[in-house]
Amino acid sequence: MESKIENTIIIGSGPAGLTAAVYAARARLNPLMIEGEEAGGQLMITTEVENFPGFEHGITGPDLISVMRKQAERFGTRFITRNVTKVDFNVWPFKVWIRDTEYQAKTIIISTGASAKLLGLPSEKQYMSKGVSACATCDGAFFKDVEVGVVGGGDTAMEEATFLTRFAKKVYLIHRRDSFRASKIMQDRVLKNPKIEVIWNSEVLEVKGNGKEVTGVILNDTVTGAKTEKAMQGLFIAIGHTPNTKIFNSLLDMNEAGYLVTKPGTTFTKIPGVFAAGDVQDPTYRQAITAAGTGCMAAIDAERWIENKEAELHG
Ligand code: NDP
Repeated sequence: MESKIENTIIIGSGPAGLTAAVYAARARLNPLMIEGEEAGGQLMITTEVENFPGFEHGITGPDLISVMRKQAERFGTRFITRNVTKVDFNVWPFKVWIRDTEYQAKTIIISTGASAKLLGLPSEKQYMSKGVSACATCDGAFFKDVEVGVVGGGDTAMEEATFLTRFAKKVYLIHRRDSFRASKIMQDRVLKNPKIEVIWNSEVLEVKGNGKEVTGVILNDTVTGAKTEKAMQGLFIAIGHTPNTKIFNSLLDMNEAGYLVTKPGTTFTKIPGVFAAGDVQDPTYRQAITAAGTGCMAAIDAERWIENKEAELHG
């Protein structure tokens, strides 16, 4: 059976996708959003968002997503809470599948975001959710009055280490070099916090545990090569993110880290009618507000592209 041809399918439901949905819905494109099984993206694992303009006193990540979603819904966005499993952009209308169900669309807006990177150690995998976590804001409260570690030297690591001092007795911030890449203000916050001890020039070689929970880590001194064991009950990995672009491999241009490449100043990918917005195409800014901004651009780009395409087809 031929499926209905949508004007636009938005894949992914963080601030980029939801903003695209608000704009596309208000442009009467009646957008279909395939929001994913972990809808809302990274803001769902963020406590306070204090830098999204319009919220003078801050808002929690999940609340921000919830109001954006309601706003998109109010103008007629339809939602499917499943993951896209396959796409075909070599045909037009474009095709998108959720397992065996096929959807067709004149335009696609990709806003699948990015996910936290891990160290890739077998012991890290073994103790994931048994003391190892990639999200302090989700799991921090489980580590009350114990000692924990945070790996990384960027803003995320600073933020997580600072946040964890609300619960943990002590936070070891483990960084592989002798200086942080984090912004000065976030570094200062960490360095002034008496509950945080920085372990410089060190990488985690192994997570130790008793089978049920983490008991410590084996550290390698990157300067001397000395190995030491440090006792701790939790380990938070905060070493950056990977864009969620696997299903677009070989279809769209990506940079070496896997971020989708868009034409500068627009949301156009190399396939006309396929647009990308938010963290999936932004290795630089990665903020909720910049994601929302590019989501707006994608909806406007899609609307104009459909108009031009229809003029071309029907004269
Ligand atoms: P970054 O890429 O900035 O930093 C990643 C850190 O992890 C680096 O210090 C890096 O070390 C370290 N690292 C990477 N891989 C490994 C590994 N395999 N083993 C050990 N350490 C590793 O990522 P962030 O997530 O911190 O930040 C991403 C972006 O988001 C930045 O632009 C940041 O400013 C922004 N951000 C802003 C926030 C805010 O303003 N509130 C909060 C959080 C993020 P090395 O330095 O040696 O490369």
